[in-house]
Amino acid sequence: MTSAPASTQSHPRIEILGLPIDQVTMKETLAQIEQFIASDRCNLIITADASGLVQAQTDPYFQQLFAKAALITPDSAGVLWAAKRFGTPLKERVSGVDIVQEVCRISADKGYRIYFLGAAPGVAELAAEKLRLRFPGCNIVGARHGYFPPESDSVVAQEVAETKPDVLFVAMGIPRQEKFIEATSEIIGAKVAMGVGGSFDVFSGKVRRAPKLFQRMRMEWLWRLLQNPKKIGKVMLLPRFVMLVLRVKR
Ligand code: UDP
Repeated sequence: MTSAPASTQSHPRIEILGLPIDQVTMKETLAQIEQFIASDRCNLIITADASGLVQAQTDPYFQQLFAKAALITPDSAGVLWAAKRFGTPLKERVSGVDIVQEVCRISADKGYRIYFLGAAPGVAELAAEKLRLRFPGCNIVGARHGYFPPESDSVVAQEVAETKPDVLFVAMGIPRQEKFIEATSEIIGAKVAMGVGGSFDVFSGKVRRAPKLFQRMRMEWLWRLLQNPKKIGKVMLLPRFVMLVLRVKR
């Protein structure tokens, strides 16, 4: 994967806790994706949330990913709050689940070829099927589960490459999904690659997305915790994020 210096961006980039975030709307993200697809290399998209920004403070691998990404969208209410506090407000939240949905929606018109890799056996296929029903003509050209060891990365990548995807969504959890993308981008040849965490579980109906009320109250984290108490470690990073942000002198 080739790295994308900030100077190539067509929109402003801000910094939160030393990490770059692009000041983009969903509409601008989709326009950027269109440009990426017309380019000649693999463009990594990161959707940055508060817990990711905290993890990156002490994890050089995460920091490297942010430096390499061609686009970093603001994926949580916490990130929007911090940006406002620093006097560099972001325009809106652009989450991974919403990007997957919007790219699927426009894929019929634009002809984008999309691949879904990840989640438990059957889940990516079911998510693809449901999205095809929702968006007629939605061009998901392949789907496969994400339970294989890193030693099999290149074999799986060959399988994915045969479908010639433009956009690769990988739902295998952080950082496994990013490591897969990095190790295989040359083999697969997709122009856009993005880690999407638990998105296929949501689209398949296996996991319910936070109801609008939780989203409006900026409490999606609480909904996720109620659905999956194992997420407690990730949720505990949120107070740390608030502390780190409050500590920065304005
Ligand atoms: N997963 C996978 N392969 C693995 C481990 C996990 O495909 O080896 C899938 C898992 O089934 C789930 C997704 O990766 O669909 C991870 O979702 P999660 O919400 O935990 O992601 P994160 O919190 O890392 O964004």
